[in-house]
Amino acid sequence: MSVLKVFWQDPYLSEIDAGVTSVKSDIITLDKTIFYAFSGGQQSDSGTVGGYEVLKAEKSGMEIEYTIEPGHSLKKGDKVKVLIDWEKRYRLMRLHFAAELVLELVYQNYNRPEKIGANITKEKARVDFCWDGRISDIFPELKNKLDELIHKDLPVISAFDDETAQRRFWEIEGFAKVSCGGTHIKRTGEIGEIALKRDNLGKGKERIEIYLM
Ligand SMILES: [Zn+2]
Repeated sequence: MSVLKVFWQDPYLSEIDAGVTSVKSDIITLDKTIFYAFSGGQQSDSGTVGGYEVLKAEKSGMEIEYTIEPGHSLKKGDKVKVLIDWEKRYRLMRLHFAAELVLELVYQNYNRPEKIGANITKEKARVDFCWDGRISDIFPELKNKLDELIHKDLPVISAFDDETAQRRFWEIEGFAKVSCGGTHIKRTGEIGEIALKRDNLGKGKERIEIYLM
């Protein structure tokens, strides 16, 4: 049995009680967790397990391995509290979903250019494309479409495509259905006001940066 990923059922929890299922030196696993491990361009959460700071959270197949501070006293079977930095997580969720909307809008309205990268931190999100010219030329139109989706405060469905394989998707009815194992907000309005910025990565490669206001 791999860890129960409660961050999917309820991405709004910042605290949970869990059990330690294995301890190998400073690496532990849990029976359930709210602590997201880096995946799909979304950063790991920050926080503690049993009062010990988590130094690294890493996916290993369907399992998540947490590296905690050396010198801990955790043992298999211990009951622990898992706490995450909610302010960081919520910024990640809002920026992650803003990036999802930008990507879908660019795909749907500008001939599906090739995506060559994406990354989300709590400061900003970015999506990189193969693109001739300045991608900021589309910003006025793109921003209007984006603001419309946000201001309509549309419900976001998050669920399993295939529960055994742990494949997830998000969907906004009438707009898009997209595979993603990240943590998603419930309504588009949670993103709030955003700003777009252009960067050039060299010939034919353009970056869209997204900031929360
Ligand atoms: Zn996602």
